[in-house]
Amino acid sequence: MTKSVHHWIGGKTVEGTSGNWGPVTDPATGAVTTQVALASVEEVDAAVAAAKDAFATWGNSSLAQRTTILFKFRALLDANRDAIAELIVAEHGKVHSDALGEVARGLEIVDLACGITTQLKGELSTQVSNRVDVASIRQPVGVVAGITPFNFPAMVPMWMFPIAIATGNTFILKPSEKDPSPSLKIAELLAEAGLPDGVFNVVHGDKVAVDRLLEHPDVSAVSFVGSTPIARYIHTTASANGKRVQALGGAKNHMLVLPDADLDAAADAAVSAAYGSAGERCMAISAVVAVGAIGDELVQKIRERAEKIKIGPGNDPTSEMGPLITAVHRDKVASYVHGAADEGCEVVLDGSAYTYEGAGHENGHWIGLSLLDHVPTSAKAYQDEIFGPVLCVLRAETYEEGLALINASPFGNGTAIFTRDGGAARRFQLEVQAGMVGVNVPIPVPVGYHSFGGWKDSLFGDHHIYGNDGIHFYTRGKVVTTRWPDPADGPTGVDLGFPR
Ligand code: NAD
Repeated sequence: MTKSVHHWIGGKTVEGTSGNWGPVTDPATGAVTTQVALASVEEVDAAVAAAKDAFATWGNSSLAQRTTILFKFRALLDANRDAIAELIVAEHGKVHSDALGEVARGLEIVDLACGITTQLKGELSTQVSNRVDVASIRQPVGVVAGITPFNFPAMVPMWMFPIAIATGNTFILKPSEKDPSPSLKIAELLAEAGLPDGVFNVVHGDKVAVDRLLEHPDVSAVSFVGSTPIARYIHTTASANGKRVQALGGAKNHMLVLPDADLDAAADAAVSAAYGSAGERCMAISAVVAVGAIGDELVQKIRERAEKIKIGPGNDPTSEMGPLITAVHRDKVASYVHGAADEGCEVVLDGSAYTYEGAGHENGHWIGLSLLDHVPTSAKAYQDEIFGPVLCVLRAETYEEGLALINASPFGNGTAIFTRDGGAARRFQLEVQAGMVGVNVPIPVPVGYHSFGGWKDSLFGDHHIYGNDGIHFYTRGKVVTTRWPDPADGPTGVDLGFPR
């Protein structure tokens, strides 16, 4: 018996009518549990129309009205952490504690949105000229769309809509069709918090829905998070259609370990950051660069820790790592490990054949942890974003060689350095070409009031997401120059000179 997931348009569930459905599987069993409606062009148009109608009043609502609703939503979200985490586990497969962490990081952005009053104060200069004042204000852009990936079905939408609606926009979310249910739970909580109908809408779908959002004349801005090829496509297409766009792409995140680092701490960090969420994180560490003579010892320490990780269903509290999102993705991840030896890698751990033994879980999308050493930069396992539990270790003689290797990557999302040398860490912060840098922190995801974003092929567009960049992305600047003459000034006169 499968359940059906429908759209959320104009404040209520709207049944899918396109006749197209996508399967949603429980990754721990491989069973199709749900069918998700895939929107037609007309259904996307209905969502845009609802958002446009709602913008007429929401765009003019007071800050107090908006923040009252956001504070209520924050309380509801807090009370529903477990319920949302359960939906994530059932469709994504990650372990429950990790799903709770995802909700907590999303909640951080709701916190920022609750304080939007302070962020939107604008700027005022008085008496810039005689009796002339200048004010800079920011206004909403209108109807905005968010297109999100499967790996954070609650957090990534929350990187977007809390700020978008706090700043007066109305929002259409097109979540991943692989795990669509958390977004509907969020829609229900927003409605319960008192959000007016049409301010937040969800359309499920595939390329048909995305393409319609990219071309619809009433959509002013598009936020995207997903893989690099699609991010590039979204940026090109939405820009060509005159829209503001931020498109965050994929990654290959390096961790540089210098010879003076605490190797136990570095190994702990590498294992946590490489294999957490089965490597399905855009900020996962997927390449460790060992500098100097520490390589063998570091690999040994990583191996010892990786061998102890307990793999199992996400709803088993003893599991540390769950299955992958689909069987197709699992097979693709395994293929990198199968090809590694022929490409010159030393296969230290091969988890490609792992399967979980629990009854009813035989068809789950299982894979174990893999560790590849002495990986040449020519290997596919190094060049591609694998997005699975496969960690590559590369060797470098010096800091400079390690840095050059990292900077040669086409990706530039996150990176980290492990060292006890403050001077080296400082150099690295300035010299590395990546948008987010950790110093003895393996996954440097910025807190909600800073902005998240990569460089190079990890982000297309000018704005990082959330934080101040998020507020700027969802608002347009306007500068108002005002003169109120004083009766004592007497009559004005014509002056053809350039205004000073
Ligand atoms: P994806 O690019 O396949 O899908 C993302 C979204 O785009 C989904 O909503 C999907 O329906 C839509 N989409 C897919 N193909 C499309 C097409 N041809 N035309 C139009 N729309 C299309 O990504 P995914 O597999 O869901 O997520 C994993 C990827 O996301 C990884 O590459 C990961 O690094 C990246 N990611 C990046 C960040 C970041 O902040 N940079 C964060 C999370 C995930």
